[in-house]
Amino acid sequence: MPPNLLVSIHDVGPSSEGATDRLRDILEPATGEYRYAMLVVPNHWGRAPIVAGSPFASRLRDWSDRGVEIFLHGCYHRDDTSHDSAAARWKAKRMTAGEGEFLGLDYQTAFNRMRDGRDMLQDIIGKPVAGFIAPAWLYGPDALAAMADCGFALAEDHFRVWKPSDGTIVARGPVITWASRTRMRQASSLAVAAAARALMPARRGMRLAVHPGDVTVPRLVDSIAKTVRALANRAPIGRYADLLGTPTVSNAVPEINRNRLSSTETSN
Ligand SMILES: [Zn+2]
Repeated sequence: MPPNLLVSIHDVGPSSEGATDRLRDILEPATGEYRYAMLVVPNHWGRAPIVAGSPFASRLRDWSDRGVEIFLHGCYHRDDTSHDSAAARWKAKRMTAGEGEFLGLDYQTAFNRMRDGRDMLQDIIGKPVAGFIAPAWLYGPDALAAMADCGFALAEDHFRVWKPSDGTIVARGPVITWASRTRMRQASSLAVAAAARALMPARRGMRLAVHPGDVTVPRLVDSIAKTVRALANRAPIGRYADLLGTPTVSNAVPEINRNRLSSTETSN
């Protein structure tokens, strides 16, 4: 399997449009125009609804027509459920700053949000979405079941990309990403990115993800530009859809959430 690099812009929506453009400017010298995925939030924090027929919706359609892969990325992006245990509450808050929207949702709520978001985006872009990726890469058990029933082609977390329909894992390996929230997290993501530039072997489904908040921190912008350039030199830019033709890496249905919650590094 030839190596490739999958690049994504997270949290795309009307309230992050300026930051999205800035991220495109940072990425495109290395990726080429429109050679990345966008993770689109239908109504970020309930304050930034995507409205059919709006200028933002037209841009989304245009990006999609030019080759950007459009993923549904939650609905509100905010975790507004009450978690069962104190430990789960603590983890959800501490690990994600309250952004793990699909961690604690019941099946029906998860299904309805996925279906409505999918239908809205597909109406706007005029084609199927590339898949569903939960905010903060966090999936509760009911969200995993709902995702399979909604017919999404692909999903991913920090460590793998898989087909929700049967749990087939189509790519493994950590996603390189940056955290802008605190100086400590910034420093650790800079270190991880530097290590990736130096050490990450070329393989199929290498992933790099950026967030709107990254553009507010100049040293993160520098690191992103350097890292995407280094990795794009190592492997050609690919598309998530390419993974659908990949021979199975593993057919174990992953216990995604348990693993995810034991990791220490996160971003949204
Ligand atoms: Zn996000």
